[in-house]
Amino acid sequence: MTARIIDGKAFAEDLRGRIAGHVNRLKTDHQLTPGLAVVIVGHDPASQVYVTNKARQTAEVGMHSEKYELPETTSEAELLGLITRLNADPKIHGILVQLPLPAQIDPTRVILAIAPEKDVDCFTPGSVGRLAIGLPGPVSCTPLGCLMLLRNEFESMAGLDAVVIGRSNLVGKPMAQLLLRENCTVTMAHSRTRDLAEVVRRADIVVAAVGRAKMIAGEWIKPGATVIDVGINRIDAPEKGPGKTRLVGDVDFEGAKAVAGAITPVPGGVGPMTIACLLANTVTTASLINGLTPPR
Ligand code: NDP
Repeated sequence: MTARIIDGKAFAEDLRGRIAGHVNRLKTDHQLTPGLAVVIVGHDPASQVYVTNKARQTAEVGMHSEKYELPETTSEAELLGLITRLNADPKIHGILVQLPLPAQIDPTRVILAIAPEKDVDCFTPGSVGRLAIGLPGPVSCTPLGCLMLLRNEFESMAGLDAVVIGRSNLVGKPMAQLLLRENCTVTMAHSRTRDLAEVVRRADIVVAAVGRAKMIAGEWIKPGATVIDVGINRIDAPEKGPGKTRLVGDVDFEGAKAVAGAITPVPGGVGPMTIACLLANTVTTASLINGLTPPR
């Protein structure tokens, strides 16, 4: 048996098309243009690339996009001042502050300053709480992307055994909440889990969010299971030439592909979904702020 490869890139492209349709309807039916502000402090090259991509894709789906590039020396008070202005700006429905921040700025104070109704990254206690009790609102982007890919695989996930490996606030915890909401029986595994192989062997759905290259072995996977690999790890690739590297996930892709029913590749699986879900969250927050029901 060879697993079907879940094409996150194609799914994300299709999702952006659907988001553009929602944006167009909000503009024509409600004179509402969803607006996203992305804020970056300093010159971290990887963060610069993410922020530029986010701003470009926001504009491509027809949304209002604002990008703030602040110098490395920006003080916490200056950044908090910008967030206060964006919180009050009616053109802005989503605020994203790219992490990491320079050492002089406390990221927790910054996150807490973002108005929960504009918290498209779903970092604030308000939006995390809404997610936990099932109220409408933004959902952490990467888990939301995983959920969309899973919903596309299953008519219903009710009663399935799901294991989430990793318990970060960014990925593992919200992922487990979402799977619980789908009526899965959810197990959360982490660095202290005893006999991870045995836990994974029971699972119909495996979501790996650890950050360790190829840690989940193919023989751990239950035959026919659906595997969502969130991990992004750079490893040496001498086969590509001296000093070359490549990206791999947390799952041994070749081993797992031989047993799983479906699996996401790295790259090209979960990664492309994350920015698309940021745009989806901005449509959600713009709708809720204006008293409209967000599109599903
Ligand atoms: P964190 O480092 O915050 O969390 C890692 C989690 O893995 C922790 O809960 C840790 O457990 C657990 N863990 C570590 N070692 C083991 C082990 N040996 N066995 C079982 N569990 C273990 O990472 P993130 O959640 O932020 O990210 C995880 C991965 O996903 C990374 O590779 C990251 O690059 C990638 N990522 C990809 C995104 C995308 O868009 N595709 C977006 C975000 C992240 P404990 O809590 O006990 O320490």
